Amino acid sequence: MKLKMRSNGEGIGYDIDKLKFSLDESTWQRAVALYEAGKVKGFAEDPFGFSAVVDGGHRYRVSVSRRQFDRCSCDCYLGEHDELCKHAVAVAIFAVLGGRKLGTEERERHAGIRFCGKTGDIGTDELAEMKRSVSSALRLIRPYEGPSRIWFSYQNALDEGCARIDAILSELPAGRRSAKYLISLLLRMDKKLCEGGVDDSNGTVGNCMERIVGLLESFAEADPECIREFAPLAGRSTCFDWEEPLVAIIDSHAEE
Ligand SMILES: [Zn+2]
Repeated sequence: MKLKMRSNGEGIGYDIDKLKFSLDESTWQRAVALYEAGKVKGFAEDPFGFSAVVDGGHRYRVSVSRRQFDRCSCDCYLGEHDELCKHAVAVAIFAVLGGRKLGTEERERHAGIRFCGKTGDIGTDELAEMKRSVSSALRLIRPYEGPSRIWFSYQNALDEGCARIDAILSELPAGRRSAKYLISLLLRMDKKLCEGGVDDSNGTVGNCMERIVGLLESFAEADPECIREFAPLAGRSTCFDWEEPLVAIIDSHAEE
């Protein structure tokens, strides 16, 4: 295969979502700022990866692997301590986008889940597509089997999976179909935590589940019909009693 002179994202082991969801918010935003200010200069690629000079106060020499963006080098302070820096991420963004501006959706990474404020039933195709995206994010939430040297990359995978789930669910309108889906998703995540060998010592997955519970609480307020879909939770025991706020809603609704 002939390599193109200008990067168009072909044959790269990551894309914008991969970068965005596997980085912490501040590294991501700083890298985007460098990229958008045109600080990535002299970009070049070879079969193994990319190199450029990033003008961030000093002129840093950066190279990034084609397969994994966190295999990189930079002569800044962090880079010299083998830490991933914003300069390397800015070069990775350049490799994927080839200088094109980021769209608003590409750039934004809300922390957590935000209820979009809409009500009504989600369309069948739209829901199917959403389920597919969530299922692929759930594949990052897998059992921990060691060895301990992969602990950090394992936790990063959990972070990335949950950040992706947050972003996807922030699009859901309040309605019975969405509520039903979220309840089944919670039960699936509960199973992963209780029986699936997921090591959630950092609480990443548990916190994500609590955010989904919070979203369902907003749904119940926006459209009380959603509460009917909470029924499978009544009388169930779960790994950390995350269902309690929703069961309380069922109970208070039954009294009315
Ligand atoms: Zn750097």
